[in-house]
Amino acid sequence: MSEKGEDIFSFSNDDSDVNDSLDLNSFSSNATDNERKKRRRKKTGKQRILKIILSLFLVGVITVSLVIGAFLLYAFTMVDGTMDVDLDNLALNFTTTIYTQGENGEWVEYQRLHGTYNRIWVPYDRKDALSGEESYDGIPENLVNAFVAIEDKRFREHDGVDWKRTASAFLNLLKGSKSYGGSTITQQLVKNLTSDDSKEVSRKVREIMRARYLEGHYAKDTIIECYLNTIALGHGVYGVEVASNYYFNKSVNDLTLAECATLAAITKSPSYYAPDKDPESKNSQENKKRRLTVLNEMLSQKYISEKEYEQAKAEEVKIIASKDAMKESEINNYFVEALIVQVTKDLADKYGYTEKQASEMFYKGGYKIYSTVDPKVQTTVDEVFSDSEKYGLKGADGTQLQGAITVMDYEGHVKGLAGGIGQKAVNLGISGFNRATDAVRQPGSTMKPISTYALAIERGLINYSTVVDDKKDEYKVGGKIWSPVNWYRSYKGKTTVKYALEISMNTIPVQLVNELTPQVCFDFLTQKLGITTLNEEDKNLSPLGMGGTNGGITTLESAAAYSVFGNGGKYYKPSMYYYVTDQHDNVLLKVDSKPSVAIGADTATIMNQLLQNVVYGSEGTGKAAAGYVPNMKIYAKTGTSNDVNDLWFVGGSPYYMASCWCGYDKLQKIGNSGIAKTMWGAVMSKIHTGLAPKDFPVSDYAVKRYFCTQSGGLATEGCESKAIGWYKKNNVPKVCKQHEGAVLDAPDAEKKESTETQN
Ligand SMILES: [Zn+2]
Repeated sequence: MSEKGEDIFSFSNDDSDVNDSLDLNSFSSNATDNERKKRRRKKTGKQRILKIILSLFLVGVITVSLVIGAFLLYAFTMVDGTMDVDLDNLALNFTTTIYTQGENGEWVEYQRLHGTYNRIWVPYDRKDALSGEESYDGIPENLVNAFVAIEDKRFREHDGVDWKRTASAFLNLLKGSKSYGGSTITQQLVKNLTSDDSKEVSRKVREIMRARYLEGHYAKDTIIECYLNTIALGHGVYGVEVASNYYFNKSVNDLTLAECATLAAITKSPSYYAPDKDPESKNSQENKKRRLTVLNEMLSQKYISEKEYEQAKAEEVKIIASKDAMKESEINNYFVEALIVQVTKDLADKYGYTEKQASEMFYKGGYKIYSTVDPKVQTTVDEVFSDSEKYGLKGADGTQLQGAITVMDYEGHVKGLAGGIGQKAVNLGISGFNRATDAVRQPGSTMKPISTYALAIERGLINYSTVVDDKKDEYKVGGKIWSPVNWYRSYKGKTTVKYALEISMNTIPVQLVNELTPQVCFDFLTQKLGITTLNEEDKNLSPLGMGGTNGGITTLESAAAYSVFGNGGKYYKPSMYYYVTDQHDNVLLKVDSKPSVAIGADTATIMNQLLQNVVYGSEGTGKAAAGYVPNMKIYAKTGTSNDVNDLWFVGGSPYYMASCWCGYDKLQKIGNSGIAKTMWGAVMSKIHTGLAPKDFPVSDYAVKRYFCTQSGGLATEGCESKAIGWYKKNNVPKVCKQHEGAVLDAPDAEKKESTETQN
């Protein structure tokens, strides 16, 4: 249509007259030079008439176009004028919400996630949408007015479409202009929300109808709020708050008038008008020019006074333009960080996205995450671990001691987690380092129960009181002779399994690994107890028997593995959520909460009792932890890696299992060897406050007997020293042969144990 229009105009400039113009085809071929010369003399008058006729013709074309346009509008109204978008909840649609289960099982909101820094939503008015409190900082009036003044001066009056501008835009189109122009703020919002920016006329018509739809359904304030929070403002920045952070290193409600105008100036073409740090750059110069236009418009539309105008005009706008200045909407705690990573990873795995795509979806999808966090536990963990004064010991190189803890229930649900000592100042995002889930460290002696003892008891290789020999053993490892050394630098000779574990002997578990074979122990750890961070070199006597691994273990996997001793032998893969839905409540992810049997329930009870000795035994290495959880028993294991570079304390009450690690990021000796135990205790004692006493489950297949501490057999009246041991029903030891007499009765009725507090 535009080409035809141009032809008409070019024709009117030619040497033609009215008659010829009525017979265009015959003109060029039939006219002779003489005839032309004659006509030229009369041309002035004829040209005038021609112009009038052509103008009329043009008006006709425009009218027809408008009629066609109107028809198209009508057509599209019938076809597609609605929008599948809920502006009232738009902020939420850009927000992923984490829920936690309340005391009565109801889901309550825990935290909203707005992305690491890609989107920070600021409400239009200064009231918080949820609480209704006035204190919330909203979008300043000057900023709203700057955008309205330059982008859509009749915004407050029109119904989504500025017909005056649209008509002139169509005219421009007819004249061959490439862009439509004339978009109202509402239309621009439609474009931002639909990402529909095809060049077809139908798109424009659809946009108009959708704009009218929005205006019919939402208040102007809602429309401008959504517009300002989703608009592209150059350099990949969306929304006025993020733009304000990025360009000025301040929040949107601290912007000066000139700065408001600077942001409004970008909109027309972000790549062209987005200012740079360098005030002399072309972009900055162009932005400055347009900023003045914005201020002029604001003045002429009476949004600002002459005085304000002059001040803003004179103001030197300092552009920072730095991603570093982009504020985090909120500093996420370590649990939330780990949750984001898990959900993102699971989305990527299940739907075949890249991690980046999954992360993008995560923040934009308006997801609802039904998490396992217990706010009370997490708050306690945060309090304890943020106290670097108390716990962040300085290493030899001056760096601060680090640490991590994972607290979970006995079904693999993570209740709280910390990935560092000290105040958390930045968000980690999906690639950040969260020590609770990412720090793979040598487990030291916390390895022994999970690599060796549990398996040896499960297989009947040993029982609670089996007599073992703490002696110098020699093994051939890598062509060399190697002897495990105890931490107490000596050998104690014949002793029981109970005592070997209580004081954390090294020789005995190494003997057991040797007997079971490293391969079998390694498979048990990796296949039954979910340890994923060991490597091939760990398939050996020292790593498996003493915990001096090449790879290592995280607090998350350590806690999950140790849970089997508190829940009857069931392994639950640790998780931070139950399920995840999209904004329409479609379930996207659901955690399979079915456990696998890692060890028999009887073995679990026996291990639980053996590990209680670590805390309550007279020589237990975890003795200092005995008072942390009053009124309830705990089972635990300490761990110290080579050169005291890593300290561990892993232990559980009938309510919670917690694994705590401490160490420096760069390996060095830790000055306080009790620090992991202390931090574990600080967390556990607080989270058990007010909880009713409870017992561990006791297997029906485990029995309690007196054993002779010398022979390890069932104690008789003649035995000099006896203690209580726990056994598989089908693997009770034989009667002591060293001391004669009648076999002692069982300590008390076994099954009642689960409801009584043991001594
Ligand atoms: Zn005896």
